[in-house]
Amino acid sequence: MVFIPRVTRGYERQDYSALLDELKGLSVTENDEKVHIASEKQGVDAATRCRASLLDNPKMLYAYSNKSRVLHDRDCSKLAEISDAHFRMVSEFPVDMKVCSECYRRAIIRRGVGDDRKRIPAYERFFNKVRVSDSYLYDLMIKNKALVKLIDNNVMEITVREDTWQFVCGSTGYELWHNNYICLKDGSRYFTKGFHRQTVFGGYTAHNILRVILTYRCDIHKSKTKTKLDKRHAHEELLKEHENRREFKRVLGGLVDGTFRKDEYEDALLFLNSLFENNQVKEIVKGAERGLSLQQILIYAKPEFVAGQMKQIRSGLELHIGKKYVKSYALPELSVKEMRKAKIKLFLKKSPVEIYLCFKDRLLTLVKRKKKNNAK
Ligand SMILES: [Zn+2]
Repeated sequence: MVFIPRVTRGYERQDYSALLDELKGLSVTENDEKVHIASEKQGVDAATRCRASLLDNPKMLYAYSNKSRVLHDRDCSKLAEISDAHFRMVSEFPVDMKVCSECYRRAIIRRGVGDDRKRIPAYERFFNKVRVSDSYLYDLMIKNKALVKLIDNNVMEITVREDTWQFVCGSTGYELWHNNYICLKDGSRYFTKGFHRQTVFGGYTAHNILRVILTYRCDIHKSKTKTKLDKRHAHEELLKEHENRREFKRVLGGLVDGTFRKDEYEDALLFLNSLFENNQVKEIVKGAERGLSLQQILIYAKPEFVAGQMKQIRSGLELHIGKKYVKSYALPELSVKEMRKAKIKLFLKKSPVEIYLCFKDRLLTLVKRKKKNNAK
């Protein structure tokens, strides 16, 4: 084996330059001193530059000194106490590190706000207002990696895993709203627009609300659950569905009777929009306007029907085909075309007199509606 001694080239060069300087008549010691000061200055500059570039990086959320190893939020005033040489930053919240007591809460909240860093004080104000403890915030943001979005000063949107919630701090108390979804046959969920009200057991306190958000599992109604916790959730889901169904019937009833005041009518549409797409809502409202009964509308006012299917069921009912017959083709698996075909077939089974009466009836309602509209 051949041993090659390591040669530090820099030193060699310095030796030459010293020689050169000597030849030029400069003293060696003076030059050495200059080199020493320059390298020290370079080191300080590098550390300062490194600190500045770390602070410039928005992904770096937390800072610490590699000497004391106490974590700080990147906005903490105590960062000034850390020298450039020991200054370090990280993008994730290290769970095994001591955290500064002054900026602990802010550091946790920062984990959940994403790009909305400038509004962190507003987030802090919301969580202070609803009195969420540090430990709940830690569970939410660090353990469960929740993302939060302040919609306005009284509404906080919280996303944990695939579910999104709205924690509403209303004038009469807190509310919890949960994203709408449809359970598909394969057990997966399809998320639709809007939110529905979520029942919270034990009263609507911030802690109960966060408990629901943190422990919610989407597979509750899929598996017949065994544990106590899951049973409670299954019950919560049932209650929620029940509450929604009751409100739904109340809203439809009002639309059918035409008894809503203008603001109540608008509220009713808002509620329907939280459950259905716009075109579906139109079909439901049309049915009510054209004189269908609550029971008739309930046949098609279901999220599993798209607006086109709803229309076929609605027009079947308006043609007086009969509830029983309409139900025979009111199946989500049938296409709009298939539904229309079935509807016409059923309609043509009626006697000519019945068909005549049907058209007459239809014409009369149209005329009545036109008169009513003109009167407005
Ligand atoms: Zn701090």
